[in-house]
Amino acid sequence: MSHLRIALLPGDGIGPEVTAAAVEVLQAIEALSDDLVFAFKTFSVGAGEYLRSGDPLPPDTLAMAREYDAILLGAMGLPDVRWPNGTEMAPQVDIREQLDLYQGIRPVQLYEESLTPLKGKAAGQIDFVLFRENTEGLFWERTAGHDPSADAVENAMRISRHGADRIFHAAFRAAEQRRRKLTLVDKANVLPAMAFFREVFDTVAAEYPKVETERVYVDAAALFLVREPERFDVLVTENMFGDILSDLAAGIVGGMGMAPSADIGDKYGVFQPAHGTAPDIAGKGKANPVATILSAAMMLDWLGLPEYGSAIRDAVENALQNPACRTADIGGNLRCAEMTAAVVRQL
Ligand code: ATP
Repeated sequence: MSHLRIALLPGDGIGPEVTAAAVEVLQAIEALSDDLVFAFKTFSVGAGEYLRSGDPLPPDTLAMAREYDAILLGAMGLPDVRWPNGTEMAPQVDIREQLDLYQGIRPVQLYEESLTPLKGKAAGQIDFVLFRENTEGLFWERTAGHDPSADAVENAMRISRHGADRIFHAAFRAAEQRRRKLTLVDKANVLPAMAFFREVFDTVAAEYPKVETERVYVDAAALFLVREPERFDVLVTENMFGDILSDLAAGIVGGMGMAPSADIGDKYGVFQPAHGTAPDIAGKGKANPVATILSAAMMLDWLGLPEYGSAIRDAVENALQNPACRTADIGGNLRCAEMTAAVVRQL
């Protein structure tokens, strides 16, 4: 019997709605299995918590969440709730740093042909995983303040040997389990830090002779993602490039509502949709829960239950074969709860 304790951090905006959807699917999995029991505990983190307590990520809350087997997160931050320096609160990024979740993993899969805006791409032709380095890169100075009267403001890109080495190993290991191709995305022709990133990549690549490698500049990667996404199996890149390309990648498989993600370190795993709090549709019951449901599937894979992760992905794929099974963001009129029920029915 597997007893799994899951910390839920629903957050702000549509976060609570999509987290509840994923919990419903996990409960359906539990009901189907003879040997699986989930215990869920909800913690308050995010802009709402800041308004309540003055801290969007109270230290005691994260200390408690660390004791759970995995963390399932909705979305955090609200446009009107900002730090004095004008930046939005992003406790999900603080969590990544505090738990050292250096692997930002974004699988990009086209579940049904009509969901892509690209012409002539069949479902099997878009199936890759983006590995984003989560702890340094161009996000390194994200908490630095700035003098509003300054004539120039600089933010450094940090690439450390340790940081690059560990994300590359993770990406190579993933490529070994897939179609054995890894694409490095960088800007080594312009920035010295990116040339260093590529040197570390070349060193690590020598340890994985069975994996074919290619090196692509980030601007070309953006073009290829739109023109020939089928060329990619696993991609690896620094923090900000990964942030940008993962939204582009989501766009070619149906948008933010279809894009799951996992933030993983050597000890902890946090699973959350790639989208934000979507304040424009929050509280309307219109959010697409699929990204969070697929993130819960990634959580089950990571917890050593890939058969249940696959069952969820199959249920999503089967549900989407019905052209009426669509929320508004993907061209339909199902509400969040109805979309969730459609996935549960397939299970
Ligand atoms: P962040 O900066 O936190 O990533 P963002 O401001 O880039 O957030 P999102 O909150 O992801 O943006 O929203 C971008 C757009 O995508 C919005 O129009 C939003 O309504 C839409 N969107 C995002 N997630 C979903 C979802 N699950 N279902 C439907 N629409 C969504």
